[in-house]
Amino acid sequence: MVGGGIAGLAAAHALRDAPVDVLVLESSPRLGGKLEVGEVAGLAVDTGAESVLARRPEAVDLARDVGLGDDLVEPVTTTARVLSRGALRPLPRPQVMGVPADLEDLARTGVLGPADLARVPLDAWLPRTRVEEDVSVGAYVARRVGRAVVDRLVEPLLGGVYAGRADALSMAATVPGLFAAVRAERSLLAAARGVAARTPAGAGPVFAGVRGGVGRLPAAVARASGAQVRTGAAVRGLRRTPGGWELVVGPASAPEVVRADAVVLAVPAPAAARLLAPLVPAAAAEVGHVPYASVALVTAAFPAAVLGEGSGGGPGGGSGGGSGGGLVGSGLLVPPVERRLVKAATFSSRKWGWVGEGSGTVVLRTSVGRAGDERDLQRDDAELAAAALADLAEVTGAPGLRTRPLDVVVTRWGGGLPQYAVGHLARVRRVRAALEPHPGLALAGAAYDGVGVPACVASGRAAAARVVAALRPGG
Ligand SMILES: Cc1cc2nc3c(=O)[nH]c(=O)nc-3n(C[C@H](O)[C@H](O)[C@H](O)COP(=O)(O)OP(=O)(O)OC[C@H]3O[C@@H](n4cnc5c(N)ncnc54)[C@H](O)[C@@H]3O)c2cc1C
Repeated sequence: MVGGGIAGLAAAHALRDAPVDVLVLESSPRLGGKLEVGEVAGLAVDTGAESVLARRPEAVDLARDVGLGDDLVEPVTTTARVLSRGALRPLPRPQVMGVPADLEDLARTGVLGPADLARVPLDAWLPRTRVEEDVSVGAYVARRVGRAVVDRLVEPLLGGVYAGRADALSMAATVPGLFAAVRAERSLLAAARGVAARTPAGAGPVFAGVRGGVGRLPAAVARASGAQVRTGAAVRGLRRTPGGWELVVGPASAPEVVRADAVVLAVPAPAAARLLAPLVPAAAAEVGHVPYASVALVTAAFPAAVLGEGSGGGPGGGSGGGSGGGLVGSGLLVPPVERRLVKAATFSSRKWGWVGEGSGTVVLRTSVGRAGDERDLQRDDAELAAAALADLAEVTGAPGLRTRPLDVVVTRWGGGLPQYAVGHLARVRRVRAALEPHPGLALAGAAYDGVGVPACVASGRAAAARVVAALRPGG
């Protein structure tokens, strides 16, 4: 297993009962990749992924399998707001990645101005918008319901998941349910209504977290897998041998060769492309074309009283009140059209009851950086943190955010999120086809079939199944 992120560890875990010895080689000093529990003001908090989709079973099932079932928690509140036309406004409900499903509700939110709102119902009269293999989410949605829906709703929602831009991201890969629906349904709004109706409000929690952090998952999975794990072990080369594979591990000055019968590459696309290049150049070229976005998270702790909160980690989510009147719900999203530094914020202590519980401290985090726009990430940590908190103070109108935080931590995720460009699914099919002659070699991770934790777990399991099949006699 090359890569000790959640995909590689899920692959190792899937092999726990197989008659094979599993070795996980992780280049960094710690397991988990984008899953990490950090500390701010002495309080544990996720400084990478912080919630998992619960409507897909893979991540919550894995958490239960590895002994974290009792620590699975629902968010206290998931009501995020969006900054639009100078104010924080509720998101329309229902909506599918920002595409509204109910016109009346959209009007009520005030996210769109009157002229933009009046453009939306034209969708019902416009002739069908032809889509061949794929199209960008932005292009399709703008054509049906107007540019403002893209700029003010789709961008912030897509930005929240991919840190990407609607005009570049593939509709087939990022909103597959909606993409399928619009091929059968002329109206985008009707398609969104259909998709939303398939996931009714009472169908159980949409998201789950882990008390103490989703970042606890990797270590628990590694333990339960029984695999041998080596951190600080960067794989620099991969060779085919008559009997299997050779991996070149460690620094160029002191390379070590590790032999394996099969290999799962569960690393980000640039690393996978480098390892594949001498062996399967066609796959390497395709994988190497997956672009990435970099983001930074600024996580800060404040005394609860400064933000007008009763106590840290209380079941907030109401109206805020006091000097923290701007901190409502679970957080907020900011579209690029608003030209702010901050792309999103999560009010962690409001969203998750366990964050700062009983400490009198509130924790929040903001995210900065979008695909193709990394200028702001050039600032040093102190400058970035100060600017992000000042921006959040302005956006929320919470003056407490202008006071000195108890602690602030900047976490940089350079190349953190793959961007599924138009044509991504076809690209992944070509990669898989190029790997056909090498059944003992599999790819897993966020670069291919979904960036969310459940999708990465699924990709790890699929990779494990592929290599174990190849190891069977006659495989
Ligand atoms: C800031 C941020 C917030 C996110 N929030 C959420 C969220 O709330 N919910 C959600 O579902 N998803 C979220 N995601 C997405 C999700 O966390 C990731 O897509 C997922 O964790 C990726 O897992 P992975 O195993 O594919 O890759 P990674 O986590 O990138 O793991 C790959 C591992 O491979 C190692 N590696 C690289 N090269 C080598 C090499 N040559 N040899 C050995 N090891 C190597 C790396 O060090 C790394 O540990 C977030 C992502 C980011 C960046």
